[in-house]
Amino acid sequence: MLKSFVTGRWVEPQGDGVSIEDAVTGAEIARASSAGIDVAAALAYGRRHGGRALRALTFHERAGLLKALGLFLKDHRAELYELSTHAGATLADARIDVDGGIGVLLSYASRAVRELPDDTVILDGPLEPLGRTGQFVAQHVLTSRPGIVVQINAFNFPVWGPLEKLAPTLLAGLPTLIKPATPTAYVTVRLVELVLKAGVLPEGALQLVCGRGEGILDHLGGQDAVAFTGSATTARQLAAQPSVLNRGVRFQAETDSLNCSILGPDATPGTPEFDLFIAQLVGEMTAKAGQKCTAIRRALVPAHHVGAVVDATRARLAAVVVGHPADPAVTMGPLVSRAHREGVRRAVTALRTAGRLVAGDPANVAVLGADPEHGAFLAPQLLVVDDPTRPEPHEIEAFGPVSTVLGYSDPEDAILLATRGRGSLAGSVVTADATFARKVVRGLAPWHGRILVLDRDAAGESTGHGSPLPMLVHGGPGRAGGGEELGGMRSVRHHLQRTAVQASPRLLAAVTDPPATSDAPA
Ligand code: NAP
Repeated sequence: MLKSFVTGRWVEPQGDGVSIEDAVTGAEIARASSAGIDVAAALAYGRRHGGRALRALTFHERAGLLKALGLFLKDHRAELYELSTHAGATLADARIDVDGGIGVLLSYASRAVRELPDDTVILDGPLEPLGRTGQFVAQHVLTSRPGIVVQINAFNFPVWGPLEKLAPTLLAGLPTLIKPATPTAYVTVRLVELVLKAGVLPEGALQLVCGRGEGILDHLGGQDAVAFTGSATTARQLAAQPSVLNRGVRFQAETDSLNCSILGPDATPGTPEFDLFIAQLVGEMTAKAGQKCTAIRRALVPAHHVGAVVDATRARLAAVVVGHPADPAVTMGPLVSRAHREGVRRAVTALRTAGRLVAGDPANVAVLGADPEHGAFLAPQLLVVDDPTRPEPHEIEAFGPVSTVLGYSDPEDAILLATRGRGSLAGSVVTADATFARKVVRGLAPWHGRILVLDRDAAGESTGHGSPLPMLVHGGPGRAGGGEELGGMRSVRHHLQRTAVQASPRLLAAVTDPPATSDAPA
């Protein structure tokens, strides 16, 4: 039974909880429950102890905590890799999650020292003169809120998910309570054990509630925030909770997304851009078995190149080795659970009502080093939908190794089809044609959090379609949740309160001058 870490100790929940299975063998690996965990007490403890201690530190001192934590985790990442195997992650998959999370901590730590003051308050914008004699002025200030952040995370990033939310919020002086997704909660438990072992965060700065965390939002108020990652359906349910609706809890959502990759008309078969498009598509379908919120779900290609794209993608997919994620010969592991595999199969069935399957069999897969039925293995599935105006490929997210190829007629049509996803986290335009790139990127930008333009020049250094980076926005409008995570220090500012202070210059300076030793935490 997974324990929760609340009010300064590990607590065992009551009841039997729910079973968590090993993705590779199907055997029970843990159980999770939040029954009997006093969530209200945990939230109060976090605000009282963790928040108070963090607010007493300057931004530079908080950055020091992130750096120390990141370096400690770097030395212990091997055990997180190993544990992630049970969730179906190959070493390459685990590195995306674990190294990616540590990278966010270290990046935020160094940028905070460069870009934020060594103070507990940020002066935001210029001094605003308000009177004729100069004796009445105003200054916007950003201060830490005496609240707590509740993270509700998705199953696919049990390490990156908590850490990418921790970095900006800890810098903002906020304590955190993590509610991990149940299927991979055991990996997050180990992460929290390591964070505690590192011994760098103040008491109460980080807590963990495993299981469903019933009522977790009921005890939040106007200084608190929820940082949710998961499906759009769950986001809608949680955003409709009375505390969010009536008490002004800040609710940020990162949800699912029908991301597209667009092949330019210039990128004909035989060009480097065509090959880059195919390699990236297959990479996105198979990394983490397609269980990435940013993965390419829709491949939009010139209609007369659909056949060539399908042939090239199939040829590349044929080299994918599905199997035990610990085997170095394996390039794609299983999905997180057999229940999740059933969900992906249902989504493929629904997509097939609009088109045809051209690679992969949802019912059969050759598996290296494991049992295809006991483990949650699924072959990569490629579909073609001949009528791109059908709603299914633009609406159904199969959260696994599944992509659909759709033909477009001209740049306007490509933009129109892309926007039918109603807002996405990431999009790619693979082209060497400057006119096409300009037109399509300008058309897609209002619908996307991040756009990668890929050509032969950028390919060598490209970080890829699906990789969120600490210095760039992660999030997207509309269906993608409307949230904005990461993106450098702007995401720290987002968690601070902006207040206009109007006063005489003398008293304003008394408020805004650098810290005095007498500053006591509120
Ligand atoms: P999910 O089923 O929506 O669950 C997300 C989280 O919400 C889990 O921690 C879940 O807990 C919790 N939850 C569900 N109902 C709840 C309730 N009534 N009260 C409190 N918590 C509740 O999503 P998932 O299956 O974990 O993740 C896959 C989805 O996440 C995909 O759609 C993917 O696109 C999306 N995703 C988005 C991003 C992004 O950055 N935009 C990143 C990763 C994944 P339990 O596990 O205990 O049910």
